[in-house]
Amino acid sequence: MKILEVKNLNIGFNLSDGYRQAIHNVSFSLEKGETLAIVGESGCGKTVSSMSVLRLLPDNAVLQSGEILFEGENLLELSQKQMQKIRGKKIALIPQDPMTSLNPLYTIGNQLLEVIELHQGLTGKEAFDAAVQSLEKVKIPDAKDKMKAYPHEFSGGMKQRVIIAMALACKAEIIIADEPTTALDVTVQAQIMELLAEIKSKYNLSLILITHDLGLVAQNADKIAVMYAGRIVEYSSVRQLFNNPKHPYTQALLNVVPDINTDNIKTIEGHPPAITDDIAGCPFHPRCTMCMEICTKIDPCLKKVSETMVACHLHD
Ligand code: SF4
Repeated sequence: MKILEVKNLNIGFNLSDGYRQAIHNVSFSLEKGETLAIVGESGCGKTVSSMSVLRLLPDNAVLQSGEILFEGENLLELSQKQMQKIRGKKIALIPQDPMTSLNPLYTIGNQLLEVIELHQGLTGKEAFDAAVQSLEKVKIPDAKDKMKAYPHEFSGGMKQRVIIAMALACKAEIIIADEPTTALDVTVQAQIMELLAEIKSKYNLSLILITHDLGLVAQNADKIAVMYAGRIVEYSSVRQLFNNPKHPYTQALLNVVPDINTDNIKTIEGHPPAITDDIAGCPFHPRCTMCMEICTKIDPCLKKVSETMVACHLHD
């Protein structure tokens, strides 16, 4: 069952030198219980696309056109007040830095209780028990005692667990995890991803995983959207993408994964374009080793090639 559908999304920003389009005709969908990974280098539009689902965009952002259908309702047509009922309660965010969601001045317990009172309507002992249970669900030891702790008393991994506990306490149906393990060391990263996978399957949640780490994607996602310069350039199942990547950018990204046998890390030559760069044709053409004449003139659109959607003239 489709729980989320983003259709033909176009978003821009009003900058000091004028309006610039950042997201070009982006479409993706999420099934109940599924993990969709949105992948690309920084500045590719993966965070802007996913934050638009929560309508958490900077003030200078302009939602030009498109639809974001959640359980059949277009989120772009809701007022900010209506969105507050969706944010946190139905769609929760796990940010890169948990301190952007935790208040250092309040105890973990107070913050969890606030969420539970607001979204579940529980009070008193019932709310307290629900808060403790949500900490236990994310495997925080001595959960009852930890209710009294302040965020600074927790490690980065434990803070991420608290954020996940908040999402569970709200009974969120979709979790958007924005580079959730970037700030953590490798062992803790693995533990957090394991926890996310576990709660996702236990509670049949849907997950949007925003990352630049293809290793995480291979282990955790069902479907993948590769983004470049504000566009989806390849969209397919993870199995298909890893076995038969079709877009030269995807192929280059897969080559960046370090080869543990040779210790080599190949990088993609050049830089991703800035939002202010005007590039004619395919935005990847200055970096593409397979660039043809048409690529410098016409921006390819996303089309179906066997089981994959790909935007590249090589597949015209
Ligand atoms: Fe490379 Fe051309 Fe394909 Fe763009 S359209 S990725 S430049 S081959």
